[in-house]
Amino acid sequence: MTTELTDAQARARRLSRSYRCRCGKPVFFDNTLCLACGATLGYLPDEGRVAALEAGPQPGTWTTSGRADVLKLCGNRHSPAGCNWLMYAANPKDLCIACRLNRTIPDVQDADNARYWGRIEGAKRRLTSQLIALGLPVRSKLHDDPERGLMFDFLRSPPKGPQVMTGHADGLITINVEEADDAKREQIRHAMREPYRTLLGHFRHEVGHYYWDRLVWNTRWLEPFRNLFGDERASYADALKRNYEQGPPADWAHSYISSYATMHPWEDWAETWAHYMHVVDTLATAMGFSLDPHNLEGHIEPFGPDALYAPDDPNATRFLELLNGWLEIVMVLNEMARSMGQPDFYPFVMCKPAVAKLQFVQMVVLDSRSNPEL
Ligand SMILES: [Zn+2]
Ligand SMILES: [Zn+2]
Ligand SMILES: [Zn+2]
Repeated sequence: MTTELTDAQARARRLSRSYRCRCGKPVFFDNTLCLACGATLGYLPDEGRVAALEAGPQPGTWTTSGRADVLKLCGNRHSPAGCNWLMYAANPKDLCIACRLNRTIPDVQDADNARYWGRIEGAKRRLTSQLIALGLPVRSKLHDDPERGLMFDFLRSPPKGPQVMTGHADGLITINVEEADDAKREQIRHAMREPYRTLLGHFRHEVGHYYWDRLVWNTRWLEPFRNLFGDERASYADALKRNYEQGPPADWAHSYISSYATMHPWEDWAETWAHYMHVVDTLATAMGFSLDPHNLEGHIEPFGPDALYAPDDPNATRFLELLNGWLEIVMVLNEMARSMGQPDFYPFVMCKPAVAKLQFVQMVVLDSRSNPEL
């Protein structure tokens, strides 16, 4: 009998959000301390798990069972970022792989900024852990890879403007830190008539633009991308103007995952990418806690191979199984949210063309395999 995990099993384990302390009690993604036994906890991004730590050979170093390497805590652990990630003690850098992605953070002497930044980093760690677990390249443009890396500016608009715009350009993602203010973000969500607006959603959307540059542009995926999403060489300025003047086409829900996706092929890609990340993270979390869609009363009309971009792909059957299982779970979670008087857990409806695009995103993701640098 072999205990080797298959690639898919290992990936599912890395993506799971269910962890246990060495004392056996459950611990969670953001925890720094086990409340049951008092163990110091840290997150291991390469294994995708929260680990209980033992004091290491030198002061400020740590070890954990199952690993021979000596570790240290991220330098942002005691900052408003509250980062619980680990890195190799031998790494001369102070910050973990996620915190090294920052180029600009707001002035945390300001109490609002400190609070905003803490929330932003929490969402960013969820994003980054998932990118790493999916095997996507994650390297800091500032510290590790000036050419092709990724970095973040978290900016606050000056009182007299101009307003900071959230967006992506050439590996730099800019986030308006006021998106971390619940009241302000909710106000914008209403004004824009969006069903869903979160920090994590912003991160997933913007990083989708970054990975388009890295994984689609100038690769064998570019022509298939254009066939499926449309030609991204169409003027973005015209698309923006059209969207502003006319709004989305009335029948957008038959072809797109969201109304914003109708604007331009790039936005369609970024929206689809974000939804792929929503699906994978929530499903892996459900399965990590043994929430099995097979045990639920089936009320959904499952998608079949005719909805796929590549029905003959070796992963096609598995993709459909996961997607349909996830839709089962979402149906139940939406009903549960309504039972609590809360907005829907997943306020979107999938259509066949969106499913095809999701499968395409998965194929591009599976085609990219990188190892993280701690
Ligand atoms: Zn414990
Ligand atoms: Zn960190
Ligand atoms: Zn976008």
